[in-house]
Amino acid sequence: MSSLTKQDCFIEGHWVPTEKRFAVTNPANGEVITEVADADGDLTQRAINAAETALAKWRTTSTQERAALLRKWHQAIIDNKQALGELMSAEQGKPVAEAVGEVEYGASFVDWFAGEAERINGDILPITDNSKRVMVIKQPVGVCAAITPWNFPNAMITRKVAPALAAGCTIVVKPPQLTPLSSLALAQLASEVGIPDGVINILPTTDSKTVGEILATSKQVRKLSFTGSTGVGKILMKQCAENIKKISLELGGNAPFIVFDDADLDEAAEQLMACKFRNGGQTCISANRVLVQDSVKDEFVKKIVAKVKALNVGPGDKENVDLGPLIDQDAVDKVQRLVISAKSDGATIEAGGSVMTELGDLFYAPTVVSGVTQEMDITQEEIFGPVIAISTFETEEEAVQQANDTPFGLASYFAAKDTARIFRVSEGLEYGMVGVNTGGISHAYNPFGGIKESGIGREGSKYGIDEYLEIKTITLGGL
Ligand code: ADP
Repeated sequence: MSSLTKQDCFIEGHWVPTEKRFAVTNPANGEVITEVADADGDLTQRAINAAETALAKWRTTSTQERAALLRKWHQAIIDNKQALGELMSAEQGKPVAEAVGEVEYGASFVDWFAGEAERINGDILPITDNSKRVMVIKQPVGVCAAITPWNFPNAMITRKVAPALAAGCTIVVKPPQLTPLSSLALAQLASEVGIPDGVINILPTTDSKTVGEILATSKQVRKLSFTGSTGVGKILMKQCAENIKKISLELGGNAPFIVFDDADLDEAAEQLMACKFRNGGQTCISANRVLVQDSVKDEFVKKIVAKVKALNVGPGDKENVDLGPLIDQDAVDKVQRLVISAKSDGATIEAGGSVMTELGDLFYAPTVVSGVTQEMDITQEEIFGPVIAISTFETEEEAVQQANDTPFGLASYFAAKDTARIFRVSEGLEYGMVGVNTGGISHAYNPFGGIKESGIGREGSKYGIDEYLEIKTITLGGL
């Protein structure tokens, strides 16, 4: 185990053990990596108090000071990217090379928000009444809380913690039970580079309900940022209503990937592969429904099937692996249920379609299903696994209508060449994000977020820091 494998809660700059502990296992082989402290309600309150104490000083540090510390943290993450990637691969399952990629992506938010810290500008408003002058300043929200999911154990932490710190907020993080180790390693590096005690606090726990409720209802916590399922997002939003807490929600998606007949089909297939199989399809922006125009369907399916059959599945620490195991048995059961029910409803399995038992219980074969229709469960639900589900359409209007026919509105994608169509469809899709001729839409400089039941707020980009700032208007009268 590397020195970055930490086992305790991180509160006020100290590693705090608990009597009760829980095991973190490797999904590739079920082996226990280590046992981790299990935070309860008392420790949650202690972490909130620590964040509140640290806030008094942290919010008054200069933006340059905060930016400099964030840049040091960024460098420490990059310097340790291999160890962080290996740790993440062990707890989460994704191939080491992909995990190292996530560490770099996660670090890019720290670097980005170091820059944004230095650009928290206010305004002086035009004079409308000569006896008054009005200034607008931006101040840190205060103590923040973050609740994060297991699919991106590193980047979902940095995407919330970096803008919070840049804005002058302190934070309490509840990482997922399945993958707490990456978050603890990040805290260790933050501490080593001198981010002050209490500014970042981490609470691994098996009792997310209790810890989550305390964070959401605490009067001391002024903002909650959550990434996870829409169901839990709704619970937290209700809890936050108790004291009108500011809230950011990055929830589930049901991303369409539309292939029009004027698209470059080779390029579209390439982009779909990258978009679908990142993290074994376990991302909220994975293409969930692939809508292909009738006239190019056979050709496109042929290209995709060839690519899917060439994918290499195996444990994340093996060389040249494209896909690791799914996160747990529930994930495998869900994927299997959706594929079987699509088949029994009349869809065709073109590739894969089963668990790769020779590798282990959690390895699901990369799968292509064609002949999918709007009513099928595989269309209605988020697959969250390595399955490409293909349906067809005839007209552009029909494609956009089908794409929008969901309560979700996170990511959407389409492939086309015609410029007028590109604008029409981009503007017609009811989504927070549209990828045109690309499956890669997530960067530190892009606003990431959804509409409808996919969430509230944006992360990353110049907009992301606003989630951690309050606007104050100062009106100076009697002039
Ligand atoms: P996922 O499908 O990504 O596991 P969840 O919404 O279940 O989505 O989990 C996302 C995060 O929310 C995890 O950190 C999990 O522990 C936490 N969580 C789950 N249930 C609750 C709850 N009732 N209150 C607060 N947090 C919760």
